Amino acid sequence: MSCLFCKIIEKKILAKIIYEDEQVIAFEDINPQAPVHTLIIPRKHISTSLEIKQEDNALIGHMFQVANTIATNKNVAEKGFRLVMNCNRESGQTVFHIHLHLLAGRAMHWPPG
Ligand code: AMP
Ligand code: ZN
Repeated sequence: MSCLFCKIIEKKILAKIIYEDEQVIAFEDINPQAPVHTLIIPRKHISTSLEIKQEDNALIGHMFQVANTIATNKNVAEKGFRLVMNCNRESGQTVFHIHLHLLAGRAMHWPPG
C-alpha cells in the first residue's frame, strides 16, 4: 500500500499522534494552517468521501466524536473550530485517504479560500 496515511497508521512514517483507538487515529498536521490543526483519519483506507459506504456510517460518526473530544481537550470547543474534509482535486485534496481536518485557534474566514 503506497498510501501516506496508511504508512502513518502502520507507524512506517512518523507523525505526532495524539489519539488512537481501534477505528481511528489523530495526528498533528505537518503544515498547520491554524494554531490547532489536527487530522482525524480512519484506520480503514477510504480514498475519498465519495467512497464512503453505508457500512462506514458508524465509523464516520466516530470520527466526528473524536474530533469533538480533541477540540474539547485542546480548549477550543467553546470558542469554535472548523471541520473540513476535502474531496478530489479542485477542493484541494492531496492525500487520498479520507481525513477530517480540525482547525482552530484563530478566526476562520467565510467563504473559505
Ligand atoms: P488534504 O489537502 O485535504 O488532502 O490534506 C492533506 C493534509 O495532510 C495537508 O494538510 C498536509 O499538510 C498533511 N500532511 C501531508 N503529509 C503529512 C505528514 N507526513 N504528516 C502529517 N500531515 C501531513
Ligand atoms: Zn490509506
